[in-house]
Amino acid sequence: HVRTRFAPSPTGYLHIGGARTALFSWAYARHHKGDFVLRIEDTDVARSTPEAVQAILDGMKWLGLDADEGPFYQMQRMDRYKEVVGQMLAAGTAYHCYTSPEELDRLREAQRARGEKPRYDGRWRPAPGKVLPPVPEGVKPVVRFCNPVDGVVAWDDLVKGRIEIANAEMDDLIIARPDGTPTYNFCVVVDDWDMGITQVIRGDDHVNNTPRQINILKALGAQVPQYAHLSMILGDDGTKLSKRHGAVSVMQYDDEGYLPEAVINYLARLGWSHGDNEVFTREQFVEWFDLDHITPSAAQFNTEKLNWLNAHYIKQADNSRLAGEVANRLARRGVDPEAGPALDAVVALYKDRAATLNELTDSAELFCADVHPAPEVVGQHLTETARAALASLRARFESAAWEKAVLSQAIKDTMAEHGLKMPQVAIPLRVAVLGVPQTPSIDAVLEVLGRERVLSRLARYG
Ligand code: GLU
Repeated sequence: HVRTRFAPSPTGYLHIGGARTALFSWAYARHHKGDFVLRIEDTDVARSTPEAVQAILDGMKWLGLDADEGPFYQMQRMDRYKEVVGQMLAAGTAYHCYTSPEELDRLREAQRARGEKPRYDGRWRPAPGKVLPPVPEGVKPVVRFCNPVDGVVAWDDLVKGRIEIANAEMDDLIIARPDGTPTYNFCVVVDDWDMGITQVIRGDDHVNNTPRQINILKALGAQVPQYAHLSMILGDDGTKLSKRHGAVSVMQYDDEGYLPEAVINYLARLGWSHGDNEVFTREQFVEWFDLDHITPSAAQFNTEKLNWLNAHYIKQADNSRLAGEVANRLARRGVDPEAGPALDAVVALYKDRAATLNELTDSAELFCADVHPAPEVVGQHLTETARAALASLRARFESAAWEKAVLSQAIKDTMAEHGLKMPQVAIPLRVAVLGVPQTPSIDAVLEVLGRERVLSRLARYG
């Protein structure tokens, strides 16, 4: 039975890399009808904040990555970690070490001077026939893990292939500090064990922790999970993705007007592929997802592709859903969403041409707020000739039946009357009613905007 987990440290928002890790862990569990566990690794109390926990939960909720269990909090599991430390001491797979920090410094210096890699030398590690130093008074010991001294730790990484590390490369890891608090790698091990995790899917910044974690799991007699280490994500410019690249928090994509299904579809393709498929639903992704088609090399972020996907999902979305999103965004801008025509009709005019919900909102704002085109736009388009044409249009619109075909005819009649071509009437008309020279088909715009708004906006120029 498959059990995966997402184990973020709450030291910041849920970023794109974390979201991709969460998505892959979630999808793997869903694909195998297993369980997905959420675990908050909050033992770095100096850097963990409740706001960051909330940001992670919000991000996962927005993306629809529902956990079957959790969130578990490591800070609430301290007693359990201490219990396991006690068991390991009793079993002889861990031991007390009284080496002081000063002593360790001297040891490392001497090793460096000899050209050796600085590492703890196991002076407190018990061995048959070995006489340990006298226990110093008043010193609280750390607890160290008895790392195997020979042989190799190996695992078949589901992304990177076989990885082998010689045990001789590793020293005896501290698993509990002098005050008894467990260390990072130890908490992860106990959790993965207790939570019955079968596949650990995480960023490849953790590859170096894996041999240590495997050794401790083995010492505990635990089943060692499979590991899949995902390569990092690079920004558009090929350097490591960071704040410099703009939006890195998942919720910032919400702010910027991306739909969660577009972000999910985008993240799914970030380092994973299924033939030539670029556009797929969450359900299809779950059905197709496996760890065999993950690229071991770094994935590069591509904003253009994300925008393209977002435009696709906006086009597909229900008008009423888009209208709701746009209404919220208008309200946040201080624009009354009720001040214009029904937003369903407005978004229907624009959804085929918007890359983001914010672009859609920019257009909707022209219908809801009073528009004031810039003086140079007025100067360029609302010439004497144009204003004369708008005046006769306004007269026609006063009595016209308010439907597209009739409005279109009124425009044609005005063109004929003034000897003008379509753009010579339609562009000034757009500028007068929406403040911009480019809009969807003008008769459709007029119909949605409504007679009263059209007449009062025209009255300023004609
Ligand atoms: N808490 C770690 C992180 O945020 C992840 C640990 C793990 O997945 O094993 O990077």
